[in-house]
Amino acid sequence: MHSLKIDEGLCTGCRECVDSCFVDAIRWDESKGIPICAYPEDCQVCFVCERICPARALEVIPDWKSKYNPRTIAKDRR
Ligand code: SF4
Ligand code: SF4
Repeated sequence: MHSLKIDEGLCTGCRECVDSCFVDAIRWDESKGIPICAYPEDCQVCFVCERICPARALEVIPDWKSKYNPRTIAKDRR
């Protein structure tokens, strides 16, 4: 399963990563005040959220063997 690693010490809470995710995989955790990958199965490992983070607080951790890898899904549909 893909995941996101958030450095809570660096995150400024700007929410740009939440707004940037085109599949809405990232949601805002109100209790912790940081973004979370709420729907990792929807992540398309596009790295937009990682690139857009002005604080470099977010890292996308791809799981290339995941059944949710977009390439794996595409192969299954052939
Ligand atoms: S890598 Fe892309 S699809 Fe995955 S959480 Fe980030 S913006 Fe969304
Ligand atoms: S874009 Fe970066 S600094 Fe802004 S909320 Fe997301 S992880 Fe935090």
